[in-house]
Amino acid sequence: MSEDGAQPIATPKRPIVLVVDDSPLVHRLLKARLRDEPVDLRHATSGSEALEFIYSNDVATVLLDLGMPGMDGFEVLRDLGEKEATTHIPILVLSGQQESQDKVMAFGLGAMDYITKPFDLAELRARMRSALRIHRLVRMLSERAQLEGLTGLWNRSHLDERLEQLVSSADRSDRPFSVALFDLDHFKSINDNYGHPAGDAALQGAAELIASAVRTADIACRYGGEEFAVLMPETPPDKAQALCDRIRESIGARDWPSHPDRKITVSIGVCGSEGSAGLPPQQWLAHADAALYRAKEGGRNRVVVTKVGKDGPKLAAAS
Ligand code: GH3
Ligand code: MG
Ligand code: MG
Repeated sequence: MSEDGAQPIATPKRPIVLVVDDSPLVHRLLKARLRDEPVDLRHATSGSEALEFIYSNDVATVLLDLGMPGMDGFEVLRDLGEKEATTHIPILVLSGQQESQDKVMAFGLGAMDYITKPFDLAELRARMRSALRIHRLVRMLSERAQLEGLTGLWNRSHLDERLEQLVSSADRSDRPFSVALFDLDHFKSINDNYGHPAGDAALQGAAELIASAVRTADIACRYGGEEFAVLMPETPPDKAQALCDRIRESIGARDWPSHPDRKITVSIGVCGSEGSAGLPPQQWLAHADAALYRAKEGGRNRVVVTKVGKDGPKLAAAS
């Protein structure tokens, strides 16, 4: 990106605002005038440079010029609007074009706002802040939609999305990866004997223990009724087994206020690989599920691991 070298290293929390304009003067002006804003200001001097940057960075707002040689601002708007990943990024058009038909077209293509040059700085700042506010809200809503209501873990659709990304990245980089499925043992009898609210409390308690045991990079989800799943990037099967065994022990040791005399145990199936396994995402779940089935068959309250790799699946020792 042009002018990036002169930028101070931004703190990672600052939202990225990308200025797209073919005129270096506009970049210099905005850089100076927006110096005190808590944003990480980045610069692109053409439409194609802007798209390349946006597709590989987490951009919070775009300040977009319309008239540029090569790919113009309208084409940038069209491209960003068509793609799922970028359609919610607020775009503030900053253009010398004052014609009503340009404004209508820009809004039609998904622009959130339109400011004509020469612009008033206070107004630009206010509109940029409002675009950033909208970006924050959209992000918050989309994250909430991926959380499961009872436990606060990620939901199944988030799991499917992340599984696909993590499997393809582990395959590409030939790095370890593991998936675990958890199923609480004889859980129906908790509901039957102590009531549904006691069952719900147990699900929340188990979710809490799972969430507090995993690493930040791991993805813990509620997979189904009394089933949980954990995706573990950079984790070979033996490490995944050790982690799952710790979780198994902590759930088994926990006291439950509504049934102090009744413990709850969990059975766990793991599918893990030391490097690229070349399996489609759903096969990872299928192998973990088969291992979980063996854990149930073997007497419950245990972890069964299947190692996968270039030579196909192999059952490892249970714990
Ligand atoms: P197993 O050891 O073979 O897994 O036995 P199980 O009783 O756990 O298995 P089963 O699949 O027969 O029963 C699962 C139970 O989980 C049935 C259902 O009532 C309960 N369950 C599923 N979702 C919820 C929920 O959200 N809240 C409560 N309280 N119970 C739930
Ligand atoms: Mg079940
Ligand atoms: Mg069960």
